[in-house]
Amino acid sequence: MTAWDEVKNSGVGNFPALVRTRMLAPNATFIRGDDGRDFTYEDYWLLSGRIANALAHHSVGVGDRVAVQVGKSVEGLALFLACARLGAIFLPLNTAYTAAEVEYFVGDAEPSLIICEPAKAGALAGMAKKVLTLDDQGGGSLAEALQSQPSSFADAKTDWDDGAALLYTSGTTGKSKGALLTHGNLASNAVTLVEAWNFGPKDVLIHALPIYHTHGLFTATNTVLLSGGSLLFRRKFDVDDVIALLPRATSLMGVPTFYTRLLGHEGLTRDSVKHMRLFISGSAPLLAETHRGFEEKTGHAILERFGMTETSMNTSNPYRGARRAGTVGLPLPGIDVRVTDPVSGASLPQGDIGMIEVRGPNVFKGYWRNAEKTAAELRPDGFFITGDLGSIDGQGYLTISGRGKDLVITGGFNVYPKEIEMEIDQFPGVVESAVIGVPHADLGEGVTAIVVLKAGHSAFDESGMISGLQKRLAKFKVPKRIIAVPELPRNAMGKVQKSLLRQAYAELYMLKRRPV
Ligand code: AMP
Repeated sequence: MTAWDEVKNSGVGNFPALVRTRMLAPNATFIRGDDGRDFTYEDYWLLSGRIANALAHHSVGVGDRVAVQVGKSVEGLALFLACARLGAIFLPLNTAYTAAEVEYFVGDAEPSLIICEPAKAGALAGMAKKVLTLDDQGGGSLAEALQSQPSSFADAKTDWDDGAALLYTSGTTGKSKGALLTHGNLASNAVTLVEAWNFGPKDVLIHALPIYHTHGLFTATNTVLLSGGSLLFRRKFDVDDVIALLPRATSLMGVPTFYTRLLGHEGLTRDSVKHMRLFISGSAPLLAETHRGFEEKTGHAILERFGMTETSMNTSNPYRGARRAGTVGLPLPGIDVRVTDPVSGASLPQGDIGMIEVRGPNVFKGYWRNAEKTAAELRPDGFFITGDLGSIDGQGYLTISGRGKDLVITGGFNVYPKEIEMEIDQFPGVVESAVIGVPHADLGEGVTAIVVLKAGHSAFDESGMISGLQKRLAKFKVPKRIIAVPELPRNAMGKVQKSLLRQAYAELYMLKRRPV
């Protein structure tokens, strides 16, 4: 029986009720803010009650959406728990979105209330019946409204299967879709991760991720919330700050960029991490070189895991056992992972690269008001087609080869970018690389590599590198061109935006038109 099965059998029926039953030491610290404000578990619960009352005052009820575009604050985080207690659906939005972009989400989700930073209130006014404000110090019209609200709140009667959050996918291609996550999706993942990563009341997690994305909003926060540990809550990631916090912390959850920055900092030593027990990475691929470099310098093997907005966490390298660089580990308890033929959907033999599909209590309910998309990506037997390509080895470890849409098809052959990137990254002077397919008159797509060089390696030998690769790779896999750039375009979660690279180099192989 999994930890989640036990919770379901216990009769607890929704996310807030689970939080309440796990709150064994209400006076223990849950959050230490970087603004000098600390919150015990009880403080946090009472704060969520006041917020729930304030939202109810604005007629937010069961099933209503509450759109939230705010900087990072404890109130901003507690808004999720408040919504869950109301039975409302929390809809976080990236703070970088412009008012025009927000309009799309608001049009799609039809929230009854928008909560935004005071500076944006003017631009968003009129998009919903009501707009309240909240700044990253916990000020604004919502904060003012809280002062007159009682902290006790009678939670709505909701079930595991009821919606709790609507998270829009990052949408690097096409329109972003709203993934509806239930109380059960979020609770099952948090309960599973507490066990899998051995979280407990002594844990102190450095929380430097944004709270509009599932990683910082749910993975990091809910795991600690259900374990009785505490968060060192930072409004942004600052490498000096994180280095200074290490002696007080036990764990860090970050995107790969956190780790490359830490690795480049002279303050990262064996001594500085003496108090730490676990470093976790996800949301984008961690370079095997970073994994190795980090272990050499600190003695800690970073634990890499794989998740998505639609599913929360699916696989993880083991807490006890081999953490393999370049892999995302084994399926978490209660979650099934399979690799299938992207066209026929048939299961593939072990070791073959194909579409990664996942099934379990973590898999979202569906895309918001989009039955067609939901049906296209959720199979009748409950597996979700992730859109990521990968393979499973003899020990059950999953390796991701890239997004399906990043697959390069050249002259009829499939080229998996990661395989080529791993070869290129071994050349001296290369920091990292991104392999893309670019329109090619003859081949359909031409394999193209974009590389970032170490400082001091500005003069690089493109043809030398190409001939080096010819010795190691089948001819069709060798890039036609290798282009050096100062850095790769990344989004806020550290994901390389290959669609931007494809756009930038779209004309690379097009024949130049003859002058008339
Ligand atoms: P998001 O929905 O923004 O969380 O993005 C999910 C996507 O991030 C996945 O479908 C993967 O393509 C990618 N991703 C997440 N974790 C990893 C990882 N550890 N390694 C490689 N890609 C990852």
